[in-house]
Amino acid sequence: AIGVPAAQILRVLMTEGVMTTITAMIEPDLAEFVAAELGAEVNFQLAETLEDKLLSEIDDSEDDEASLVPRAPVITFLGHVDHGKTSLLDRIIGIDVAKGESGGITQHIRAYQIDNGGKPIAFVDTPGHAAFTEMRARGANVTDIAVIVVAADDGVMPQTEEAISHAKAAGVPIVVAMNKTDLPGFDPLKTLTGLSTCGIVPSEWGGDVEVVKTSAATGAGIEDLLETLLTIAELQDYRANPDRPAVGVCLDSQQGSDSGVAIKLIVERGTLRVGDVVVCGDGYGKVKAMVDPLSGERIEAAGPSRPVDVFGLDAAPSAGERFYVLDDIGQAREIAEDRADRSRTTMLGSNGFQHVTLETLFERLDGDEEVQTLNLILRADVRGSIEAIEKELSKLQHPEVRLRILQRSVGGISEADVTLADASDAVVIGFNVVPDEKARAKAAQLGVEVRRYEVIYKIADDLRAAMEGMLKPEE
Ligand code: GDP
Repeated sequence: AIGVPAAQILRVLMTEGVMTTITAMIEPDLAEFVAAELGAEVNFQLAETLEDKLLSEIDDSEDDEASLVPRAPVITFLGHVDHGKTSLLDRIIGIDVAKGESGGITQHIRAYQIDNGGKPIAFVDTPGHAAFTEMRARGANVTDIAVIVVAADDGVMPQTEEAISHAKAAGVPIVVAMNKTDLPGFDPLKTLTGLSTCGIVPSEWGGDVEVVKTSAATGAGIEDLLETLLTIAELQDYRANPDRPAVGVCLDSQQGSDSGVAIKLIVERGTLRVGDVVVCGDGYGKVKAMVDPLSGERIEAAGPSRPVDVFGLDAAPSAGERFYVLDDIGQAREIAEDRADRSRTTMLGSNGFQHVTLETLFERLDGDEEVQTLNLILRADVRGSIEAIEKELSKLQHPEVRLRILQRSVGGISEADVTLADASDAVVIGFNVVPDEKARAKAAQLGVEVRRYEVIYKIADDLRAAMEGMLKPEE
């Protein structure tokens, strides 16, 4: 708009130590600085999007005290792997998923509402406490009560401790299920002692946390556990207004091939109905059908605390996105499209710095006279591969780019590699190896590029193409 070439703007940014691209977003302060350097003036206008206005109004709207009616408590099981979270939930809902799962790992979020003698209870089973905390970080605080599952033969393990701190951080009441009490190695004292060293004082020791002895194998104690949860729910007096357009959270979503997008939602306030216009993340649409996840039956309406599988949206939102019911499908579309546009725009990383990627490498070179260094972190399956890759890369010549391998090692891509790449603005190259879960998440969070290869010459090809600005986007 000010008639200055992009390269010149990038150069000003570079003098401030900001390496970025022309499509990235920058902070207002920095924009003002750049403008001043180029003799222009910035006129800021608060861009309140439809989304900001409409949805925050919905979130901020208070329900009338008189409109609130009791709702089911929403329970999440947390604890060390293999201590029985899946089995306990199976036992409660009367199915057997734990046995059928590959490796017994809970892959997807399960959510059900059961009826315990006329009193409904909802369960949300997140795969691990990291997912629980991530959802919380996105403002999706759906859990009312956390059940910490501890196998009595094992006692409190490192992940149990973590689960406890995650539950405490969420500020929700905690109940402990001391599970596997049918096993011969059952040692209640060990578990109780372990708990109290984590700051969980059992009620039988004068503390405020109920410890219920359970066995998912025999069913012993399950009824006690449900009773305990309902007692807490009664004390906490969870309420919501069912008579309003629904608001809630997406727990999981799936892009099916023929059935379209299926999303698992839990309603927080209001009632969701077939035919409602919903916006969630960058997906929107009219609810075509709703299915109860437990019975598999179609339902017409879902009130507060009710998990439900919903069909009819055009795109799959991420877990933790909030959903809203709007009057107008046009508004829903506008919000969803706005969001999709924004997620396509490159955002600066949290430290205000956009990391180099092979696709943006060339843009950095544009208009800059200096020689640039492209930092790489190499990970490969065996030592021989590393040597072969280094040999290939040494053949690459470019007047403006120098390749520097910061670290070369054998084994899977780790969180530490990503941290290093973040700190040194590097690209991580993996050859016949994959990043672990933590590394993947960290890379996404920090905007570090991780590229995986199975053919050595392809690495050299891509790097050459990147230097020449000819890299084709990855499929
Ligand atoms: P999760 O990783 O916490 O979800 O644990 P799972 O529910 O998958 O259980 C891990 C293993 O412990 C499975 O083989 C279960 O059959 C077994 N298990 C779970 N609860 C009990 C129990 O109360 N008693 C006994 N004996 N085994 C149990």
